[in-house]
Amino acid sequence: MLADLHCHSTASDGLLTPAELVARAQAQGVGLLALTDHDTLDGLPAAHAAAREAGLRLVDGVELSCLWGGATIHVLGYAFDREAPALREALAALHHGRWARAEEIGQRLEAKGMPGCFAGACAVQAERGEAGHPPSRPHFAEYMVRAGHVKDHGQAFQRWLGAGKLGDIKQHWPDLPSTVQTLRAAGAWISLAHPCHYDFTRSKRRRLVSEFVAAGGHALEVSNGPQVDSQVGMLAILAREFGLLASAGSDFHGPRPWSELGQYRGLPADLPALADCLQQSLRPPLHA
Ligand code: AMP
Ligand code: MN
Ligand code: MN
Ligand code: MN
Repeated sequence: MLADLHCHSTASDGLLTPAELVARAQAQGVGLLALTDHDTLDGLPAAHAAAREAGLRLVDGVELSCLWGGATIHVLGYAFDREAPALREALAALHHGRWARAEEIGQRLEAKGMPGCFAGACAVQAERGEAGHPPSRPHFAEYMVRAGHVKDHGQAFQRWLGAGKLGDIKQHWPDLPSTVQTLRAAGAWISLAHPCHYDFTRSKRRRLVSEFVAAGGHALEVSNGPQVDSQVGMLAILAREFGLLASAGSDFHGPRPWSELGQYRGLPADLPALADCLQQSLRPPLHA
């Protein structure tokens, strides 16, 4: 069965509604899907309704933003208790933090001669996404393209929004151990998202994985979207070394030529797959 454990809807920075996403996943042959919006569970009820109708297995998921080693990093949680107080509190704090961060990004861009970016990003979010949600960096990027400040999203991130640039405001994120702890308190399976996305040396990446394991994480996202073979191989080695499960997903945000639901490089056959644990409805071990 084809599983996709990483994708986004209009509840965060995706372009398809949860129902559209489920329909597309089914058309692509995905049998087990996890919706993993950034820092929100708001897309899950609609995704479940669509999945029930389509006969597709949907697992609750989330991609939490946190801080480690001076960088914004992402941790995936699955099959948790949606009502767990620790998770509810963490999500509420992230929601408020994202609003404050978006305003700060707007102020910083204004100081660089780009006024109106906060209002513009809010308008893009309102046009694409769910009411009341804070705009995220891709919404800023879209507004900046429309306003003619940059030629495309790539340039918006490269110049203004990407890692280490003025829009990469990290002070609203909790740290990695507390994020893993929040997910553990909700009974989640926990995977470290796309460890190759960060501009880390090999030894720093290894330290990240080691600290993730020490905090109580269970899995490594060994294959993410269009990630190349060499990175899958390198992450597979880390998963073996640390005795972690392997997870995989498209990280789909919307229909684009290089991105599709269910598409990612296959996991090496010897690695135990998180998708199998979710498929069998196993509970995570209490002690990692
Ligand atoms: P935020 O959730 O506000 O921190 O924004 C992060 C999101 O921006 C990521 O999840 C991606 O969807 C998107 N993103 C990050 N880097 C880039 C990039 N270089 N080009 C386009 N989109 C990006
Ligand atoms: Mn995203
Ligand atoms: Mn991510
Ligand atoms: Mn993602």
